[in-house]
Amino acid sequence: MPETDHRHPSATDTASILMEVFGYSAYRGQQAAIVDHVVAGGDALVLMPTGGGKSLCYQVPAIARHRAGLGVTVVVSPLIALMHDQVGALEEAGVHAAFLNSSLDLAGVQHVERELLSGRLVLLYAAPERITHPRFLAMLESLHERGKLGLFAIDEAHCVSQWGHDFREEYLQLDMLAERFVGVPRIALTATADEHTRADIVHRLSLQDAQPFISSFDRPNIRYSIVEKDNARTQLLRFLRDEHEGDAGIVYCQSRKKVDDTADWLNAEGLTALPYHAGLDADVRRRHQDRFLREDAVVMVATVAFGMGIDKPDVRFVAHLDLPKNIEGYYQETGRGGRDGEPADAWMAYGLADVVNQRRMIDESTAEEDFKRLQRGKLDALLAMCESLDCRRVRLLNYFGETSQPCGNCDNCLHPPARWDATEAARKALSCIYRCHQHSGFGFGAVHLIDVLRGTSTDKTRQRGHESLSTFGIGRDLSEQQWRGVIRQLVALGHVVSEGEYNTLALADSARAVLRGDVPIELREPREPTPRTRGRSKASASVSGKPKVPSVAATLDDAGQRRFAALKVWRSEVAKEHNLPAYIVFNDATLAQMAAEAPHTLEALAGISGVGAKKLDAYGREIIRVLDALG
Ligand code: ADP
Ligand code: ZN
Repeated sequence: MPETDHRHPSATDTASILMEVFGYSAYRGQQAAIVDHVVAGGDALVLMPTGGGKSLCYQVPAIARHRAGLGVTVVVSPLIALMHDQVGALEEAGVHAAFLNSSLDLAGVQHVERELLSGRLVLLYAAPERITHPRFLAMLESLHERGKLGLFAIDEAHCVSQWGHDFREEYLQLDMLAERFVGVPRIALTATADEHTRADIVHRLSLQDAQPFISSFDRPNIRYSIVEKDNARTQLLRFLRDEHEGDAGIVYCQSRKKVDDTADWLNAEGLTALPYHAGLDADVRRRHQDRFLREDAVVMVATVAFGMGIDKPDVRFVAHLDLPKNIEGYYQETGRGGRDGEPADAWMAYGLADVVNQRRMIDESTAEEDFKRLQRGKLDALLAMCESLDCRRVRLLNYFGETSQPCGNCDNCLHPPARWDATEAARKALSCIYRCHQHSGFGFGAVHLIDVLRGTSTDKTRQRGHESLSTFGIGRDLSEQQWRGVIRQLVALGHVVSEGEYNTLALADSARAVLRGDVPIELREPREPTPRTRGRSKASASVSGKPKVPSVAATLDDAGQRRFAALKVWRSEVAKEHNLPAYIVFNDATLAQMAAEAPHTLEALAGISGVGAKKLDAYGREIIRVLDALG
């Protein structure tokens, strides 16, 4: 039993590890409770949003248990691309860590295995297929027999679930850890919150007795905005130029081709954009990811193949040019912005074609009907958020089972949309769809229907004889954009379905109630894009006395900015020398605080959050020299 084992370290040990190794003065949120529980030998299931600080939840216990003579912590991680940086960050902080994956040659593997068996290693990162390999299991068993296997941490635990979007076959084998290594605590971590996935993790990893630690999923520093697609490229460019000049960010597209085209186009517009999708060579993908992590101001244009575990903390925006599949996906993808707690934007352009495409992908998939029903339900929840006229965050959090108040940091809170009653317009649109179909014997797409509604004479309206219909021109009072909104809303609500390869529209059963006028329909008034003020300060502004999201860098005076710039130059030299991303040396928040306080002694420098003992020792004098040189 954990309680009776006198070797378990105490809570005071873990507080001093946090300070000494990581340079942080306090735990965040539930970290303290999780660390205490795991250090004492308990199993844990940790659900925490991206940027919440999951890594410390197993790294501090790993160090504490190793110091107490309990041996190594094995971290299961699905992404070999990231292990290198994670291990680099630990070694920078003075913690002996290593990884085992296919990027190592034989000598490299042998070296790591020797370190492992010697007991010197504090943390070992490995891919799931390594861990369940017989040869590796034998090594773990020998450590276990000697009482030198301290902890298993299973990162990105949602990979074990087929319901999620990142399912990995190899994760299914990890339940053997519970059987084979009795008494070794296990902590599973994920940023995926839905019930289904959580139940799957518990079941498939045999974590029935693990204590769940569930954090709020709010990411207050992320500002959510969803704009109606008009000319998506122009809209994106305006967003990038007006609000994110010089920032790093991600632009998500649905298809590989669109990724390539969008990246080319952004480059032609003078931005540094790189494509990333599963159709590119592994080599190219690695190079692009590396540049994104290591250079400033790179825009990664990507499919969802890019992102899981990207722990670059200073991603300032995540833009969606296409609708994600569901709220989980949207939340995961947008969650890659602002891990450092500084302001970040989640921006999406959304239109009728998105709704149609996503519905069709579900309809045409070969999945079981049950699964399709679930997918449709999830898509509907996302569409409801896109169409929503009130706080986006309230909707998002509600989806994850949290109740909250309007946030003051989403588009709808910041610029409450004017509403108009579209009930009558919806009835007109439905009867137009019906009449055109009745007259021609087949359905038509949105463009033609809007022409008929607005009484716009075209070759098609003439040839099809639709100008004689009673619905021709009944909607002259509304703009084309308003009609697009009406039709999109009708499709989003499921009253209209899109059929066949030409996306023709047809009435669903539920349309009858709308036609009768029994279903009120409210829409947002189309708006000219609001001119935005330039610069990032916008993203930290706030309304009606709500707390601002602080950004130390934004508050620096001129001298502070000069120090910040000089420290960044110094940091990028160190990073290059160590072949690590700059943020691993020190993150922006730490650097900005150094610039603000301009410490002249090592003691003063040690007081800054993010400066641990090893880094103070390695870099303290150089930093003070950089600062002193600026007076
Ligand atoms: P997650 O894995 O949950 O997305 P990380 O473990 O990468 O989050 O942590 C996000 C950021 O927050 C990192 O830069 C980390 O150093 C920082 N951080 C985590 N815990 C603390 C803390 N207690 N105090 C200060 N910074 C923290
Ligand atoms: Zn809001």
